[in-house]
Amino acid sequence: MSTRLATVGDCVAVLERAYPPAWAQPWDAVGLAVGDPEAPVCAVLFAVDPTVEVAVEAAGGAQLLVTHHPLFLRGTHGVAETGPGGRVVASLIRAGVALYTAHTNADVADPGVSDALAAAIGLRRVGPLDQDQDPAQAQDPAQAGSTATPPAGDAAVPAPTVCRGLGRIGELPEPEPLDRFCARVARALPATAGGVRATGAADQLVRRVAVCGGSGGELAGAARAAGADVLVTADGRHHHVLDAVGEHPIAIVDVAHWASEWPWLAQAAARLEAGLRTRGRTVSASVSAIVTDPWRLHVPSR
Ligand SMILES: [Zn+2]
Repeated sequence: MSTRLATVGDCVAVLERAYPPAWAQPWDAVGLAVGDPEAPVCAVLFAVDPTVEVAVEAAGGAQLLVTHHPLFLRGTHGVAETGPGGRVVASLIRAGVALYTAHTNADVADPGVSDALAAAIGLRRVGPLDQDQDPAQAQDPAQAGSTATPPAGDAAVPAPTVCRGLGRIGELPEPEPLDRFCARVARALPATAGGVRATGAADQLVRRVAVCGGSGGELAGAARAAGADVLVTADGRHHHVLDAVGEHPIAIVDVAHWASEWPWLAQAAARLEAGLRTRGRTVSASVSAIVTDPWRLHVPSR
């Protein structure tokens, strides 16, 4: 099949099928933030955060930057290059790079952010964790235009996306002690200064594992109710974690927010490439290796 050059609009159409904007939280800011839908795209860069460094990388050869976190979440009155947001917008526009964000809509999508985290850790029999989804989130995906029945046996067509809420739960192939499990998590994710830390005892056994990419500490109760031995998430706060382990016999495994969402980038890049192929379009998608975790130095206390 001959392929034609994709446009920003073609990429947006595929991404919105994988991550319907209707599934985003009301406070979120997803979608196309910078760029012309008619502009041609050869190369797409995926990153967690639209930082100035990431924008510079994108300007070096991509025509579309796809990020998980929005550039602007609150009202913005200007994009002067006196602040990082304005510098990002200016760098992207000068280089002809569009910016697209899939955030909380990618969190609840299956496959989505937490599915990628579960797969990176090596979990099996992965299913939804949050059974009490916001009804707005649990709308029929067909109405949001996210599902399509692929022709049987066509491996080039990505499986349809469904909305499964925040977090996933799955199982390890074999139970293992918490310290070995933490080492598994550390190997599965890109290196960060803070590494992996956990509540609980080093020798307590882990079999059922709940995960939530990003800040998922509030899911500790749901994770325990679903029979999880641990919850892997990020941004653990002192009082929340103390309350969570006091109320529920569950260990919290805390990783860097950026690292917990990074595995999604490759998954989303593959879905974009596959979705465009079915439309006779082709792009080269890659994942940024820039570490946007802001914590850079970690000295263990004695
Ligand atoms: Zn996040």
